Amino acid sequence: MSEQENWREKEPSLKEVIVNNPEVPPLMLLKADVCRRGITYTKAALDLVDSNIHQTEIKYLFREDKGNVPVALSPRDGSSLIVFLATNAETGRDPYVVDALDGIPYIFDNGEPIEEVHYWTKPDYYSQKTSRGTEMWKVVNARPQRLDIDTNDCCHFWDKPGGGCKYCFAAGAYNDAKNLPKCRLNLDDLRETVGAALKQKGRFSTIMLTGGSILSGKEVLDDEVDMYIEVLQAVGANFKTRRFPSQLVATAFNERQLERLHEKTGLMGYTPDIEVLNAEKFKWICPGKEEFVGYHEWKRRLYHAVDVFGKGNVNTGIVGGVETATPYGFKTEEEALRFTLEEAEELAEHGVSCAASIWQASPGSVFRNQKTPTLDYFAKLMHGLDEIRRKNDIPPFLDDYKRCGSHPNTDLGRM
Ligand code: SF4
Repeated sequence: MSEQENWREKEPSLKEVIVNNPEVPPLMLLKADVCRRGITYTKAALDLVDSNIHQTEIKYLFREDKGNVPVALSPRDGSSLIVFLATNAETGRDPYVVDALDGIPYIFDNGEPIEEVHYWTKPDYYSQKTSRGTEMWKVVNARPQRLDIDTNDCCHFWDKPGGGCKYCFAAGAYNDAKNLPKCRLNLDDLRETVGAALKQKGRFSTIMLTGGSILSGKEVLDDEVDMYIEVLQAVGANFKTRRFPSQLVATAFNERQLERLHEKTGLMGYTPDIEVLNAEKFKWICPGKEEFVGYHEWKRRLYHAVDVFGKGNVNTGIVGGVETATPYGFKTEEEALRFTLEEAEELAEHGVSCAASIWQASPGSVFRNQKTPTLDYFAKLMHGLDEIRRKNDIPPFLDDYKRCGSHPNTDLGRM
């Protein structure tokens, strides 16, 4: 991306953003910038990986790896730093570098050590197999304090050319996956794996489920709801209580579907991701979501979900920064920030908070190679979203730094 060759001279540095945004802790700004620019590892950093201790296995959407690269990092505050491996050809900016300093992994930028980090450790169940012989790490992923269940490897929005979300990295791989079964999991494997994971005292505090959208069924999305009911019932068999700490990140279901899901499972939290907080940009960036649900209907379903699950148990994910994508996104960061926060305010008045991730112009996505916003934009977005959540008295726990760790604005909830 030659137009960004001198990118450091064209946008405020991390140090300047820290000075200009005193309301956001420096560590959280660094985390946002690492997500924005990506990382690489030196050989010395990878030599510190011990595959008996550190988590190097991942099973996630088209990817099943058991290598020697850490799946993610934690800074010294123990929160999560979900990173992607990048080159500056992908991001248009130099990635941060993880190197060794006195035998400890450190994040470096421009040769300067910035922050000590730790590699995520393996949970006990990763070395076990189910009674069917399936390796448990392939069934359920582990974050430091959360179990992650990825139910399916396909999303029907890609069935129609151009129907998928334009920032989604699954675009390139979708044709290989569209005939896969609706649920990739064997439910006996799942029940056993969750049971084994919960035996490790003090490690996990919640369970998150997610997958691509499944549009089939008597009503659109009925099959997706039925799949989650089966999966949640298998997970719930490990609990003595009717409800258990859980979050479903899924499509926005209608009243009948949501009430069925709530009635038949122990689900406690619901996150239908709207992705973009503007009707016009949503239509352009998420054409499948627009066609099968629609922006205003998505919002209406979010508001109804608060009636079902309660305030603080419903939020929505947004891809922070994608509203500035070219050619139809907001033309300036000022305009993008103003309209995004205005819309977030309306959601919050109805009891729905936002969990923003950092847009990466991923290889494989329609928006690959686009320029993502400055760090200053993300600083103001995360602070603005946090203020709106507080003003509207929405509890911060559903996607807080312990449970998720992918959202700089929800990290601020503990301040
Ligand atoms: S809903 Fe959008 S972001 Fe999610 S898998 Fe489908 S296309 Fe990708």
